[in-house]
Amino acid sequence: MRLSRYFMPILKENPKEAEIVSHRLMLRTGMIRQQSAGIYSWLPLGKRVLDKVNAIIREEQNRSGAIELLMPTLQSAELWQESGRYDAYGKEMLRIKDRQDRPMLYGPTNEEMITDIFRSYVKSYRNLPLNLYHIQLKFRDEIRPRFGTMRSREFLMKDAYSFDLDREGAEHAYNKMFAAYLRTFDRMGLRAIPMRADTGPIGGNLSHEFIILADTGESEVFCHKDFLDFGIPGEGTDFDDAVGLKAIFEKWTSRYAATSEMHDEAAFDAIPEAERLSARGIEVGHIFYFGTKYSETMGAKVLGPDGKEHLVHMGSYGIGPTRLVPAIIEASHDENGIIWPKSVAPFDVVVINMKTGDDACDAACATLYSDLGNAGLDVLLDDTDDRAGAKFATADLIGVPVQIVVGPRSIANGEVEVKDRKTGARETMTVGAAINKLI
Ligand code: ATP
Ligand code: MG
Ligand code: MG
Ligand code: MG
Repeated sequence: MRLSRYFMPILKENPKEAEIVSHRLMLRTGMIRQQSAGIYSWLPLGKRVLDKVNAIIREEQNRSGAIELLMPTLQSAELWQESGRYDAYGKEMLRIKDRQDRPMLYGPTNEEMITDIFRSYVKSYRNLPLNLYHIQLKFRDEIRPRFGTMRSREFLMKDAYSFDLDREGAEHAYNKMFAAYLRTFDRMGLRAIPMRADTGPIGGNLSHEFIILADTGESEVFCHKDFLDFGIPGEGTDFDDAVGLKAIFEKWTSRYAATSEMHDEAAFDAIPEAERLSARGIEVGHIFYFGTKYSETMGAKVLGPDGKEHLVHMGSYGIGPTRLVPAIIEASHDENGIIWPKSVAPFDVVVINMKTGDDACDAACATLYSDLGNAGLDVLLDDTDDRAGAKFATADLIGVPVQIVVGPRSIANGEVEVKDRKTGARETMTVGAAINKLI
C-alpha cells in the first residue's frame, strides 16, 4: 500500500473524549470512527488489524474441530419467547418492529437461534459431537458504552455453540474450547488467564472468563502468580484426545483465579502473599457449559445409542474481536504509539522514503516495495511529501513492527536503516540484505 493513495486519517491532536490509551491511539491512528454512542466504523487501518485477529480466532476454532456458519443479526422475538429470555433479557436488548408490526430484535447472543437450527436437522447421537460458530455483529444497549470499541453497543463476537449427548461429551467440548482459547490469545501476544466466573443471564454451572491483566480493565480479579508462567498448548494438540485436554484444563485450573463476583477471600488469603496477584483485568473471552437449559425449553433432542430420546447438552463460547484490538494496544504500546505484535500488525513493514522525488531514494523504495510485496509481506510505503520527522512519528504511532528508512545519504552507499519498532534497535545494511532479513 502506498501511503499517498491510502486512507489513514491520522489526528494531530489527542482526542479529548478518550480516557484510556487504546481508545486514544485507535482514534489518533484513524483505526476507528464513532458514528453514534457506542457504534463504530472500522476504517482501513483498523479493519486490517481486526481481520488479522479474526483470522487467528478462525484458525484456532477450526483446529479444535468447530465449524463456521453465519447467522443473521436480526432475530424474530418468537424464539426468545420460547426460551423465556425475551422478557428476562431486559433493556440491553434492542427491540424492533418490522412493517407488519412483528417484534424483532438485534441479537445480543445466539443460543436460541442455534438451538433452533440444531433441532431442525440433528436427530441422532451419531451426528454428535457438533460445535458451530460464527463471527458476527451483536448489539447490546450498554448503559455505559465507553473506551471506544472496548465496550461498545454494536460489537463483533465470535460465538461458538457445542452439542453433546451427555455431560461427559460436553466437558470434552468445553475443554476443546478452553485449549483453543489459550492458543488464540497467546498467538496475539496476550497472556489471558481463565478465571472462574459467574454465568449471568446465560445460565449454567461451569464457566470461565478469559482475562487480560490491565490497569484500565473494568473487572477486579484475584489470582495466583503461577498463571504468568504456565505453558500454552502446542500446535500439535490433539483435540480428539479427551484425556490430554482434561490434563490441560486441570493444569490451568489448579491455582486460584476468580473475578470479584466469584471471589472467595479465605481461599485467596491462603496463598502466600508473595504469590498473590490482585489486579484489574479485561474480559476478552467467556466460555459456558449450561447443560440442557435451552434444549429443555426449546425441545432439542437426539436419539441415543439406547434408542431413547435425550436432551442435548450444550455450551457456548464467546470471544470479543472488537474488544481484543484495544486490549492488545493496552498491553503493547509506549509513549510514541502502538507496538503491534507481528501476528496482528496491520502491515509487516513500513518503508519510509525520507526524500520523495529523489531518484535514488525513489528507486530503492520501489525495489523494496515490490520485492517485499512479492514475497508475501504486507508493505506500507510512505511516499508522501511530509517531512522526515513527521514520517518517523507516524511510523512509530501506527506501530508497524519493522521500519526501513531510505535516506539520500545512505542510499548513495546502497544502504538503508532497518529499525525494530519494539526495541528501537537500528541496523544499517544494503537494500538486498534488508530484503533477505525480512523474507
Ligand atoms: P462484559 O462483562 O464486559 O459486559 P459480558 O460478560 O456481558 O461482557 P459475554 O456475554 O460473556 O459478555 O460475551 C462474550 C464476549 O463478548 C466477552 O467476553 C467480550 O469479549 C465480548 N463483549 C461483550 N460485551 C461487549 C461489548 N459491549 N463491547 C465489546 N465486546 C463485548
Ligand atoms: Mg455485559
Ligand atoms: Mg462479563
Ligand atoms: Mg461474560
